[in-house]
Amino acid sequence: MQMKLLDGKKCAEHLVADISLKVAGYVASGLRKPHMTIILVGKHAPSESYVKSKIVSCEKAGFEGNLIRLPEEINEAELLERIHGINNDQTTDGLIVQLPVPKHIDQQNIINAIAPEKDIDGFHPTNFGRMTLGQKAFRPATAYGICKLLQFYEIPIKGKHCVVIGRSNIVGKPISIMLSNDFDIGNATVTLTHIETPRELLLDETRRADIVIVAVGIPGFVTEDMVKPGVVLIDVGINRLENGKLVGDVDFENVAPKCSWITPVPGGVGRMTVAALMINTLMAYQNNFNLA
Ligand code: NAD
Repeated sequence: MQMKLLDGKKCAEHLVADISLKVAGYVASGLRKPHMTIILVGKHAPSESYVKSKIVSCEKAGFEGNLIRLPEEINEAELLERIHGINNDQTTDGLIVQLPVPKHIDQQNIINAIAPEKDIDGFHPTNFGRMTLGQKAFRPATAYGICKLLQFYEIPIKGKHCVVIGRSNIVGKPISIMLSNDFDIGNATVTLTHIETPRELLLDETRRADIVIVAVGIPGFVTEDMVKPGVVLIDVGINRLENGKLVGDVDFENVAPKCSWITPVPGGVGRMTVAALMINTLMAYQNNFNLA
């Protein structure tokens, strides 16, 4: 079997180019550009690189991208005040508070404070609830990006058996809900596994899965013996090794030959997360201006 790459870079570029055409049309008709604001608290190397790629993608999409840097020592009340200010600013369509925030700040309080109509990360309980119920919502960006990647490569989902490894609120939980929902990119039968899943049960599930999505943060977690030939493998993990190399959660070298499709790291899901943020920002903007 010929393994093929699910190229997140190519798909993201295609989606962002499509968005930039729409934006050019809106701007030509006299509207302002879509506007994304990102708040970054303190210094955190991975966050710096994620924020940078979001700002670059804003430029490519024709958006205004605005980065607000706040000091590590800022307290929760001050951060909430900044968020409320942006919530009330009609010139910002989408707001991201880059996570993680410093430990002295309650992350859930921050997520809950972002106005749902600007919550382009899709983490607010209102958006998460609406997404779960199958209603229109900003969908959590990484999970939505995975769906768009599967759609781009016309990977069949309906009726397939999908196993998700990891149950985080930002990846594992939402992708398991989205792929099992009655959505265009959905209608799979999904098993959600996590750290308390007995090893034998995990292996039973992954070995008969048509699609495996892994988001655990452990390099080489998915090995060749865990999957069946022809599996579609989505590697969400982003792990920096001591030698500086960036790897996912899959033992790529040994697992890839067994797959029909697999995402590379880097150049896979990470790129799609940023593209999904652009889609969500465009939706926030279209909602603001009552555009179709
Ligand atoms: P997390 O780090 O919050 O939690 C890890 C999850 O893995 C937990 O749900 C845990 O139950 C599960 N887990 C741990 N050991 C396990 C085991 N032995 N068997 C089964 N499940 C196990 O999860 P996260 O925030 O989703 O991050 C996971 C990885 O994905 C990290 O490497 C992170 O950097 C990466 N990530 C990438 C993107 C992207 O855009 N590509 C976005 C978010 C997260």
